[in-house]
Amino acid sequence: MRLVSVIVLFGALTVACSSHAEAPPPVDADLGSYALDALSRTVAATGPMRCPAVPRGSFTGEGVRWKTPLSVHPAFAERLARFEAVVVEVATQVYGRAPKRMAHLGSYNCRRIRLYPDLLSEHGIANAVDLSAFEFDALPRGADAPDELPKALRRAFRVTVLDHWTPKRDDAVSRLHRRFLVELTDRLVARGDIFRVLLGPAYPGHKDHFHFDCAPYRLVVL
Ligand SMILES: [Zn+2]
Repeated sequence: MRLVSVIVLFGALTVACSSHAEAPPPVDADLGSYALDALSRTVAATGPMRCPAVPRGSFTGEGVRWKTPLSVHPAFAERLARFEAVVVEVATQVYGRAPKRMAHLGSYNCRRIRLYPDLLSEHGIANAVDLSAFEFDALPRGADAPDELPKALRRAFRVTVLDHWTPKRDDAVSRLHRRFLVELTDRLVARGDIFRVLLGPAYPGHKDHFHFDCAPYRLVVL
């Protein structure tokens, strides 16, 4: 893991790290303002949890469908729609088509942050998603595939954070999946108008998913 930069945002000191072998993009993107910025995240470190009431609705995706619907704040749904546009862009570049669907491990869930029990998890205000996989259908007949696309990836396949962020094999397929995930997260980190917190396998408890949220601070540990 490598220290990339330290950012002060809304008075919170946060650190951005990356395990990329490649040079990571700068993380000083302008993060703008967001609907849930003023909401206090401080909670009692023990005892029963009560989460603030925030509007939330079912979101199934705009650019790419989610396998099961997410329960998210409308402002976060907007961020997800922007995210999906980036997924389509990068996947088309790498695989010649967008994923058919994305799988997640959770969105709304009223709980504390495990490592910081006096703070409300962004999941508790419907402001986060845990993304685990991208599922692709076979390349449509006659579709233009990138030259370097291995034959096996003309068929349907699945890219998961667990298996492909740190590939278990060094072959063309594994390298391409790694490239897809790195290129995608690099573009997200470079954008201040999508997610502010991006956590991946380098962060404790995140071996099998990316956690993305829009907390009032910047934290990038992939
Ligand atoms: Zn999460």
